[in-house]
Amino acid sequence: MAEETKVGGPSAKTRLRRRLRFLRTRARELKMIGKALVSTKHPILVHIIPMRQCNLACTYCNEFDDFSKPVPLEEMKKRLDTLADMGTSIITISGGEPLMHPDLDEVIRHMRRRGMIAGLITNGFYLNKERIERLNEAGLEHLQISIDNVVPDEVSKKSLKTLDGRLVMLSQCAVFQVNINSVLGSGVKDPEDALKIARRAVELGFTSTVGIIHDNNGQLKPLGPRELEIFEEVMALGKRSFSRFNEFQHNVARGREHNWRCRSGSRYLYICEDGLVHWCSQQRGYPGIPLAQYTPEMRDREYSTKKFCAPRCTVSCVQQVGILDNWRDPQNLNPMPMTPPATPQAELVQIGEVRGDS
Ligand code: SF4
Ligand code: SF4
Repeated sequence: MAEETKVGGPSAKTRLRRRLRFLRTRARELKMIGKALVSTKHPILVHIIPMRQCNLACTYCNEFDDFSKPVPLEEMKKRLDTLADMGTSIITISGGEPLMHPDLDEVIRHMRRRGMIAGLITNGFYLNKERIERLNEAGLEHLQISIDNVVPDEVSKKSLKTLDGRLVMLSQCAVFQVNINSVLGSGVKDPEDALKIARRAVELGFTSTVGIIHDNNGQLKPLGPRELEIFEEVMALGKRSFSRFNEFQHNVARGREHNWRCRSGSRYLYICEDGLVHWCSQQRGYPGIPLAQYTPEMRDREYSTKKFCAPRCTVSCVQQVGILDNWRDPQNLNPMPMTPPATPQAELVQIGEVRGDS
């Protein structure tokens, strides 16, 4: 078992700031749900990449490099303004490792200024008390760290052992909500790790989720009996929050296809560091259109486009967004034929076992 740092609780001032931010964020989330139910014409959730470079190199990940430069602040602001003008409700900053971006605080501030809910996915390695306070001040509302194992190995250094001290700092200093994601399934050496990680998250006052990994062929593969028990226990742990709308995962865990309508390209957008719109992190390359040229008609079309990968999808955030529209508007269009890009781009990639969830 990894060594766990003993915890002194947050100060009274931090508890009060945390409570106020939680209530404010929850009110904005309820408003977001109401707006999404009334109209299908705006994106609910956008993932945006300000930095492809990462300080780690998890062997399963194809969402990072070790050389690319940060997207300049003014360009990030332009993209955020475009998304705000579309009526976007939530933006989650992802990577690479976003904490390596020199202007991340100002990016978060700009999101809040434009009225959007601000989230961040990070591997957590750059967190310290001063950095957490800067994120508090910038107005961050959600932060997620994905932890792969209890002790680091050749696959991933994102372990409880390497991160526990930083989790303690978060529990003492963060006024934003923190979610810890653990993983089960193909390639995970010891499934008991997921339970230990989730229990530690709850002990520190965080929410906890679990992701399920495909097998090497990108196929749904049922979890074994002990993995299933762990899965159910982790799902039951922790506090209720909007990030816990993961009921589809009971199907994924049992290797069953699930019936839902993926609204990526419309209600959910993935914006890469080059400013192009993609279906999601697992299906990059399509539609591959610059955000500034992505019209309401294109979003409408994607809303009604059936996604071939939906029955076997494990991308939980897009499925959570889908809940708001699954009950309406069947999808009857096929993806548009791809036009050759003016400049070479990544091919459409469907990723099975690969995760890039920081
Ligand atoms: S992988 Fe999942 S989220 Fe991505 S486009 Fe396919 S169905 Fe949608
Ligand atoms: S999974 Fe996250 S931390 Fe690991 S290499 Fe990919 S982007 Fe970096």
